[in-house]
Amino acid sequence: MRLLYRFENGHEVYFTTKVEGDARELISCGAAERELGERVGRAIRLGRLNQIHSGIVHLIGCGERQEADSSLPDGDGLVACSGDFGLGVLVADCAPVALTSAEGIFAAVHAGWQGVSKGVLPEAAAAMRSMGASEISAYVGPCIRSECYEFKGPELWEISRELGGSVVGRTSWDTVSLDLLEAVRRSLAKAGVGNVEASQACTACGDEYYSFRARQSQERHLMVVVPGGGY
Ligand SMILES: [Zn+2]
Repeated sequence: MRLLYRFENGHEVYFTTKVEGDARELISCGAAERELGERVGRAIRLGRLNQIHSGIVHLIGCGERQEADSSLPDGDGLVACSGDFGLGVLVADCAPVALTSAEGIFAAVHAGWQGVSKGVLPEAAAAMRSMGASEISAYVGPCIRSECYEFKGPELWEISRELGGSVVGRTSWDTVSLDLLEAVRRSLAKAGVGNVEASQACTACGDEYYSFRARQSQERHLMVVVPGGGY
């Protein structure tokens, strides 16, 4: 697990790569929670979702514990305000998006093209605001980039109608593609989130990543956003 990004308010974004193996195993054996705890210097509960490529966002309260995978809520965004929690999403090509606010409210979002189309990012921002967040900042972790993401069909034109023509790109082999990172940026901008930083990595052509699109990987990366050690 490596530290990918630290927000101004001290909230941190961690990410696992192929080096550590399938993140689902790191979670099920407890290694992910243990390492997070060591990183931030206190016990961390890892909040997670049964991800379904939706626009659904859940709030996690204080003292709540997710016991088993079967009890995970269906959805693609998680919001919390407690330093007891790290919020995790599993990805391989889809964009993992960390959101935070000066008030200490934070979120993790699994944003593939479907979730972006269904408005998962504005939903997450709205949920954060309902808990008192004012200005929201975002960090987008490694995802499949435009040059590797061939994308055809009516869905692409629907996304571009919604978010603008800049989401349509070209692959390195000169076919039409979806610029998922640009779609994330546009969707966040529409939700009033203008301060967005992003990893430059591409999961499809980067050696250290799993890619469902490029290599049919069944394994996943874990991104976690967590209030850092000074919390
Ligand atoms: Zn690439």
